[in-house]
Amino acid sequence: VAHQTIAGLLADGAASSPAIRATEGRPALTYGALRDLVGTTVAALNAAGIGRGDRVGIVLPNGPEMAAAFVAVASAATTAPLNPSYRQEEFEFYLDDLKARALVVLRGDETPARAAGMKLGVPILELVPDLASGAGAFALEGGAPGRAARPGPAEAEDVALVLHTSGTTARPKIVPLTHANVTASARHIGVALALTPADTCLNIMPLFHIHGLIAAVLSSLAAGGAVCCTPGFDALRFFRWIDEERPSWYTAVPTMHQTILARAERKRDIIARAPLRLLRSSSASLPGPVMQQLEAVFGAPLVESYGMTEAAHQMCSNPLAGPRKPGKVGLPAGPEVAVMADDGTILPQGSIGEVVIRGPNVMAGYDANPEANAKAFLNGWFRTGDQGLFDEDGFLLLTGRLKELINRGGEKVSPLEVDGVLSEHPAVAQALTFAIPHAKLGEEVGAAIVLRDGQALTERELRDFAAVRLADFKVPKKVVFLPEIPKGATGKLMRIGLAEKLGISL
Ligand code: ATP
Ligand code: MG
Repeated sequence: VAHQTIAGLLADGAASSPAIRATEGRPALTYGALRDLVGTTVAALNAAGIGRGDRVGIVLPNGPEMAAAFVAVASAATTAPLNPSYRQEEFEFYLDDLKARALVVLRGDETPARAAGMKLGVPILELVPDLASGAGAFALEGGAPGRAARPGPAEAEDVALVLHTSGTTARPKIVPLTHANVTASARHIGVALALTPADTCLNIMPLFHIHGLIAAVLSSLAAGGAVCCTPGFDALRFFRWIDEERPSWYTAVPTMHQTILARAERKRDIIARAPLRLLRSSSASLPGPVMQQLEAVFGAPLVESYGMTEAAHQMCSNPLAGPRKPGKVGLPAGPEVAVMADDGTILPQGSIGEVVIRGPNVMAGYDANPEANAKAFLNGWFRTGDQGLFDEDGFLLLTGRLKELINRGGEKVSPLEVDGVLSEHPAVAQALTFAIPHAKLGEEVGAAIVLRDGQALTERELRDFAAVRLADFKVPKKVVFLPEIPKGATGKLMRIGLAEKLGISL
């Protein structure tokens, strides 16, 4: 029987094998030590009156303690990791929205999270790193003594993790994910990437987001391998980590891959001696040319996957052994995936519609949000809000988000398609197509462009380039060149509201 709790996933790891690692030469936390840490943390939380179903906010810097705290706290209660860069008001909102029963912060850290917790009267548990016991080991101190209503190790149907969605298209919603959901997803990723105990993932993703927690941390542990936890993505240190920590893979969002690619040319010597066996991309669309260039530079497959918070991350993945199709998100890789018409009928291959999913990794429903749930589920399927179609080989092509399609006087423009064309221009490092409010048409097509180092390009030249590749109505009417494209909290590019944010109008 497959393990259906996070603690269960650890059971097969060899006691002396590394589970959690850190950069900068700290000794690894072994599977044996991690299992002990889970035991002491469950006992400490239960003694502080926290048990199964109680929500515990976790606000820690990215790194091994955050990974270990996720695993250990989830084994007793429900983890609610929050972005450490929130302001105090935001912490107050989230802690209150989540009805947090406790808050874990780093000892001695005078952060806005602590101030918010104190103000709301949420008991604070201080995480004290235990440097002698290996990367990520810790003790929890503080909190008020109490008796947990539901003590003991968490079970499969207990909620392990609550996260808010990225808020790309609407106000963030609370997604509760059970142990059964997250362990299923971790295993699906392990299968897609053929992970083994010999693998080490370099985690550069934030650990308050589904991608890093499941694809980097939990999938590694489910496979009996290791995850090397960095303080977070840093384009310069990335190549040093690749060289010194010798990971066999990493997973990242497209913006990180693009930054890595922009510097890769100068790091050929490091890349040549690195033991990377694969690169993984997810959470947003990776332009086809970027995928192909990364595969060429690294000499390793780049596996693009399709994930979302509500599915505990992975839904589809390109096959590691190939063929991998640039610009497509691959084959169903875990849950059942189908394309649905507005009336709920499942459409045949080649027809465009809403991507829907069902399976062991899919959440049962948003927390306390009957309105959103009524819209989100149809005939037992969860509606992703993404639009797409299956090609003749069963690969899913995403054609856009239903809410992001640009409606130009009734003609729908897929911003993804335009991004793809603009990224083909050799001077373009990054392209983001967005809607510009327009008095007559409703919306017009605009594009924000980041140029490659040392390249020059005019708006006219790029529009001419696009005009030979796209129908007139899809060609951006306005192009702006930026040093960087503004991102949301989880590192995603925000199409919706970008025109307003940049003060662009027509
Ligand atoms: P919200 O639901 O609050 O608007 P969000 O959907 O951005 O925010 P996430 O759960 O982080 O929050 O992101 C999931 C979405 O990311 C998917 O529904 C899809 O639109 C997009 N996505 C994920 N992977 C890919 C990919 N490989 N290619 C294209 N889009 C992707
Ligand atoms: Mg979403």
